[in-house]
This record gives sequence, C-alpha cells and structure tokens, in this order.
Amino acid sequence: MISASEAHEKILASVRSLSSEKVSLIDALYRYLASSLLAPIDLPVFDHSAMDGYALCHHDTEVASVGHPVSLKIVGTLAAGDPLRTTPLQPGQAIRIMTGAPIPPGADAVIPFEECVMGSSLDMRQVSQESLKPVSCQDLTQMLVVTQPLKPGRHVRKVGEDIVEGELVLSRGTRITSRGIALLSSLGLEHVWVGAKPKTRVIVTGDELVKPGVPLKEGQIYNSNGPSIVAALEEIGITPDEILWVRDNEKQLEDCFKASPGVDVILCMGGVSAGDYDFVPKILAKMGAEILFHKIAIKPGKPLLFARFDQQLIFGLPGNPVSAWVTFDRFVRPALLKMMGAGECMRPRRLARATEVCVGSLGKEDYLRATLQYCDGEYLARPAGPQGSARLKTLADANGVILIPETKDRIGIGESVEVELWEELP
Ligand code: AMP
Ligand code: MG
Repeated sequence: MISASEAHEKILASVRSLSSEKVSLIDALYRYLASSLLAPIDLPVFDHSAMDGYALCHHDTEVASVGHPVSLKIVGTLAAGDPLRTTPLQPGQAIRIMTGAPIPPGADAVIPFEECVMGSSLDMRQVSQESLKPVSCQDLTQMLVVTQPLKPGRHVRKVGEDIVEGELVLSRGTRITSRGIALLSSLGLEHVWVGAKPKTRVIVTGDELVKPGVPLKEGQIYNSNGPSIVAALEEIGITPDEILWVRDNEKQLEDCFKASPGVDVILCMGGVSAGDYDFVPKILAKMGAEILFHKIAIKPGKPLLFARFDQQLIFGLPGNPVSAWVTFDRFVRPALLKMMGAGECMRPRRLARATEVCVGSLGKEDYLRATLQYCDGEYLARPAGPQGSARLKTLADANGVILIPETKDRIGIGESVEVELWEELP
C-alpha cells in the first residue's frame, strides 16, 4: 500500500493541463487564466473627479480661511462622458464637475458639494466647519466661496493610478471571480483564454441504489455518491458529460469503461474494494489500463484506485459515502484543477490547536472531519462528530479536515495539528 503523499505525486505526475480556449468574460467565471494578462490601457483612463463638486486649482485656495474666504467664479459644468475640456481653467475660476468627468486643464483638485457654500450674498459669519451643509446650485453665474486651502490632487483620480498600461494584471493560473471580471471589463477585455474543462464521465455502481424520490424497497438505499460527487464537480466548474448508472454486473460495467473516446476523466464510485461484486480492478486490468495504485494508507478512503488508459485518467472511488467524498476532495479535485490550469490545486492548509483529543491510526494518514474556527489570532480544531466512513452528518457539519500523519495515532488537547479548510473562515 502506498502513502498519501506517494499517491498525490503519482496523480499529479500523470496529469497534463488541457488545451486552452477563448471564452467571453462571463463564461470565464471560476475558470483559470491560460496566460498572464498585461493591461492594454491605463486605469483610470484619464484624470477624473472622484466626487460631485467643483474642480479648481489648489493655488487659488492657498490663502483661504473662514476669516478670509476666497471667491471663485463658476464657469460651467462637466458631466461624466463629456470630452476633455480644451480651454484651461483660469486663475480665480472653478467649474462644476460630476463624478467620472474629466478634470479640465488648469484644475488639480475637487471640492465636493458637501463641503461648499454657495452664493455671493453669503453672511460669512455663519461659515464655520459645522455650517458646511450640502447645497444645490442652479445658477451657474454664482460664486463658489472657499474657506480653507485644498491640497493638490484632492478627490482627483489620476490616470494609471490603479493599473499602468503593460502592467501584469492577473497571472496565469488565476481563478477568475466576479471581482476579476470587474477589472478585466474595465480594461475593455471582451474575451480571455482559459484552460479547457475535462470531459468527465461519472459511473455509479450498486444493485442496492435507488434515486432519491423513489420509495425504498427492502435492502435498498438512496444513491448519495452520485449527487455528492456531481455537486463537488460543479463546485469547481465541471458539469459531467455523462452520468452512467450500472448494476453490479461485470459485463455492463465493462461497457461503461470501454466506450469512452474523448473522455478525459472517468470517476467510478463503488465496486473497488474486496467484495465479490467489486469488479472495477478486474475490469481495468483486463482492458489493459495501467493501474498506478490501488489502496492507499489513508483513513477513510483506503480502497481508492487510480489508473491510466491512453490519455484517460480513471479514478475508482470507494463506495462508502464519506470515503467517496473525502478521496474526491483530497486526490481527484487537485488533479482536475491541474487539468484546467489552476495555479493552486490544493486546499489551503493551516496549523491549528486541537481543542479535543483527535484519534487516528498508526501507519495511515487520517482525515478527521473537523469543526475549525479562527479565534484570537489562531486556528482551533476539533472533530466534528463520529468519524465512521458512512457518517454523513459529520461530513455535512464539518468545515474542514484534521490531518493526522501516519506516524501518529493521537493528537492531545492543546497540541498543534495540520488542518485543511473547506470553507473560508470568518
Ligand atoms: P462498495 O464500495 O460498492 O462495496 O460500497 C461500500 C458501501 O458504500 C456499501 O454500503 C454501499 O451500499 C455504499 N455505497 C456504494 N455506492 C453508494 C452510493 N452511490 N450512494 C450511497 N452509498 C453507496
Ligand atoms: Mg457496491
């Protein structure tokens, strides 16, 4: 039996990244950039106002104070979408400007409406910090009264301050999120190159299984691995191309493995252990598939099988529902992410302090479904409940896994232990 780390190495060494494809930005969501992206333009594209207010030159306000306010003549209005004003602002002038409008030449600061007092008939005794109220100004012939000096660049978004043309925007292997799409759209990108998704076939085996919704007869159970693995695939953006459901019949199962041109990955669930009806290893051997490993020193999930047939990867997941999900997550998911060009294929790992005793087994890497918390600057971990490989409640309740190395069978309270996060912790 090989170790978990040997199994990982064998899997990742067998996985090639698939080709890349050009997709629209929205179709790139949750996919991985196939090449690093350089900015085709500056961001912001031009100097513009960050506020609705008045653009002016800060020099004009250098001597301004409540006692000695400076009056500036308002010479017009600039809206978002207006072309850059060609006439420079003259000393003593200000211009109404809306958020997003280009800063005119001669101006270098913006005073927001909220900080302005309008009107030539203003009683300056009322002008104090407290009395600076929002005002609306209809009359463009009015004067703007400034009562304090402004710093240059105030409320001005400078060209290129976010991104400079030619700068690295996102690197190859980055997962594209809606936040990334905001950035790429603002750079005017319509399409990006991303890694292709593997064509995936899911095979569910077992005479005892029925679909949820159908009343159970004696000896029957509901198929949970099919839906759980399909959902886990969807979580990384893969919709299986085929979901086949077969009885524990060697001939039928064999057909499922054989007729598979164009399929990159086969995920078969069940039928991989030592039972009389566990035909998968035998069928693969007969087909001439290269079995890279069968059985790993892990708990749960020992029967996991990994094989290669031409370019196709075949994973035989154990039938026990927890083992199926955990082995998918720890061994299959990284392989699929690598195929799709992900820069980071592994779940994030942290060191945590055990707040309960964690029991494992010597000679195996144990995966304890865990309740993980981040509290006062440290991660805390405890088993989420009973750890049997069919205990789905514990799986559903957990938000990560405690990893007990092969060399240990127990982690005491207060000891440090490695954990893997399934979800981001608050
Ligand atoms: P097997 O690996 O096929 O021997 O199955 C091991 C255990 O997992 C048995 O108790 C099966 O009934 C159960 N099992 C197998 N496949 C599924 C499935 N798709 N959904 C739920 N339980 C399953
Ligand atoms: Mg079975």
